[in-house]
Amino acid sequence: MRYAAQKGTKDILPQDIYRWHKAEQTFAEVCHSYGYEEIRIPTFEQTDLFQRSVGDTTDVVQKEMYTFDDKGGRSITLRPEGTAGVVRSFIENGMTSLASPVRMFYNITAFRYENVQKGRMREFHQFGLEAFGAQGPEIDAEIISILTVFFDRMGIKNTKLCINSIGCPTCRKAYNDKLKDYFRPNLEKMCDDCKSRFDKNPLRMIDCKDDRCKAFAAGAPRLIDYLCEDCNNHFESLKKQLENLGIKYEIDSSIVRGLDYYTRTVFEFKSENVGTQGTICGGGRYDGLVESMDGSSVPGIGFAMGAERFLMECEAQGIEIEKPNYVKVYLASLNDEVKPFISKTCLELRRAGIGCEQDLVGRAFKAQMKYANKAKIPYVIVVGEDEIANNKVNVKNMADGSQTEVALDGIVSFFENI
Ligand code: ATP
Ligand code: MG
Repeated sequence: MRYAAQKGTKDILPQDIYRWHKAEQTFAEVCHSYGYEEIRIPTFEQTDLFQRSVGDTTDVVQKEMYTFDDKGGRSITLRPEGTAGVVRSFIENGMTSLASPVRMFYNITAFRYENVQKGRMREFHQFGLEAFGAQGPEIDAEIISILTVFFDRMGIKNTKLCINSIGCPTCRKAYNDKLKDYFRPNLEKMCDDCKSRFDKNPLRMIDCKDDRCKAFAAGAPRLIDYLCEDCNNHFESLKKQLENLGIKYEIDSSIVRGLDYYTRTVFEFKSENVGTQGTICGGGRYDGLVESMDGSSVPGIGFAMGAERFLMECEAQGIEIEKPNYVKVYLASLNDEVKPFISKTCLELRRAGIGCEQDLVGRAFKAQMKYANKAKIPYVIVVGEDEIANNKVNVKNMADGSQTEVALDGIVSFFENI
């Protein structure tokens, strides 16, 4: 029996992992530079957490969750996104009493039972962040700028930032009536999901992926035309702040986001290169979410970026990511007698943090040299009995062929200084 990775899952192989490390490290560095710290949350939560926060009229909850009963009879769901878990942790760990804003970033796997296609997997990765306790639009602009700094530092160009406001429960109530009036005459022709969304959550109808529904939704009234005064001021101020930071944006009233918890600012970064939907990253404000779970009124905002889609974008834009050389030097043995000496020297080098390799599979000297060359190890040292007796070795630089004579008992400091 030969096994294969499950549909919609993928191995990330050692030969590709450096690209992930680069993106992960850069994202962490950028977040740190804005005062964010990492949080790690569990892979699964109780199902109800996602039903309540993501929302039970959303595609994610209705169709995409990996839900099962564990042996204790609890309904468990593999996280389809990070915000719900972070909000749960924020409340559970008493972070509501910390100084605002409380800022956290994460790098997680997420699970959604989806139709697998380019950029759409069943297990995927998200880089994301959440910030709690800041009400004004300054932080909206700041988290958008985190993404622009991250893209810049990775060398990504030409992503399109689209912003929208989906208001607060007050403006949405008035808007929902307008939306229902608009959809009512065609409701019979829309998909079953939309028929049920019509009463429960008409805003979701704008986000429907069904082609016929999309065509109807295209002419729907825009929520930004019905914002209450406070929401309108927030949106206007955000636009000014983005302009101040030199961040270009477009207003796209079709962005309502696929998760129910959003309020006011919502945004996406788009590109042509990442598959059908073209969205690399999405986020927004969720001012009512903490309150709905805990009773204390704490505004929040966050985003999540699809790591696979981001790396796909890097590839499409021809971004060159340098592959690091963790192994600096290969110690080749001229005969078996010197191998114990080489093992001890390797141990010393590694204790000093210098990556090195020695023969582990009984290769003859020539084959060892061939291996070191093929593995692109930058330096090679040939060790025989003479070298040990004279306490002298030649360090060969494989890039230019040059050799440097070094005392054998001084090689750790030699490599520490190059
Ligand atoms: P889409 O409209 O593409 O389905 P979404 O609105 O469901 O995206 P979000 O919940 O906002 O996505 O998740 C944030 C980001 O995570 C997306 O912008 C995307 O880059 C990534 N993402 C979402 N679902 C998947 C998936 N199934 N496979 C790979 N990446 C995904
Ligand atoms: Mg989706």
